[in-house]
Formats: sequence, C-alpha cells, structure tokens
Amino acid sequence: MTDAPFWKRKTLDAMTQAEWESLCDGCGQCCLHKIEDQETGEIAMTDVACRFLDLDACRCTDYPGRQRNVPDCVKLTPETVLQLRWLPETCAYRLVALGQDLAWWHPLVSGDPETVHTAGISVRGNAISEDRVNDLEDHIQDWLDTGAEPFADTPKKEG
Ligand code: SF4
Ligand code: SF4
Repeated sequence: MTDAPFWKRKTLDAMTQAEWESLCDGCGQCCLHKIEDQETGEIAMTDVACRFLDLDACRCTDYPGRQRNVPDCVKLTPETVLQLRWLPETCAYRLVALGQDLAWWHPLVSGDPETVHTAGISVRGNAISEDRVNDLEDHIQDWLDTGAEPFADTPKKEG
C-alpha cells in the first residue's frame, strides 16, 4: 500500500499543503453562485461564476487574495468538506473524505490538466460571469446533468 498515491494513503487532514492544493481538479464548480430556498433549505446551482473565476482555465484569478476579494468565498477544510451540501459529487475533496477514489479524468490520475475539461466536468464553456447577469434565478442549472461519465473506467494505456 506504500506505493499507493497520497490521496489513497492519507486522510485529508494528514496531507501536506502541496498535496491538498493538488487535489483540486480545477473544475471551477464551487465558484458558481448558488441559490438557497429560505423555506426548504434546498440549494440550486446556477451557471453564474464569481467574477474572479477565469472561465477558460476554471481557476481563480487571485487565489491568494480570494477571501479579501470575496468575503464569502468558502475555504475548504478537512472539517467542512462533508458539511458543504453544494459541493459537486465529483469534487476530489469530497470523494477522498468519503473514502472513494479519484476518477480517470482527475489531473492527478490522468497526468493531464485538460482531462477535467474534455470529460465535461469543469465549467469551461458553460459558465457566465456574474458581471453579465442581472437575475441569478434565470440561470439555475443542474451541473450533475452534464452527460459526462465521471466514473468511467480509466482509459487503458497502450503497451
Ligand atoms: S469543486 Fe472541488 S475539485 Fe472542483 S474546483 Fe472546487 S474544490 Fe476544486
Ligand atoms: S474568489 Fe476565487 S476561489 Fe473564491 S469563489 Fe471567486 S473565483 Fe472562486
């Protein structure tokens, strides 16, 4: 088991800072606005992204300054990962916290930062900046219904 990659050997709170940061697949889904129904507590996702999200790279344009720029930008921690109901089912932190493996398209598995996009998991091509939106309610979207197969088998390598 010692040859296993760190996300299979370690719990989230045992990871180094570098391991923790590399676990993010770069999907950008957690940077989309959500709408919570005050009566039912249900959370609806939208396709509207925080203005600091690079809509092509699906990465924060000012990651070190994110909490200064956006006071309610949520900082994931090992303690909060499973409490955040809106985290996508594909989120690597959520998967590891649940004892599950990463999917084939995760850059740590594929070795290619593009696979999260080509597999249709990221928000690339499907999100709009909040700067261009008047009413969030017009932008509710089910991100889990992308048609992607997040847990498809890892493509076999030749040889
Ligand atoms: S949802 Fe999870 S894996 Fe995707 S960008 Fe956010 S923290 Fe990273
Ligand atoms: S500040 Fe950066 S990390 Fe926070 S929600 Fe906006 S784009 Fe995402």
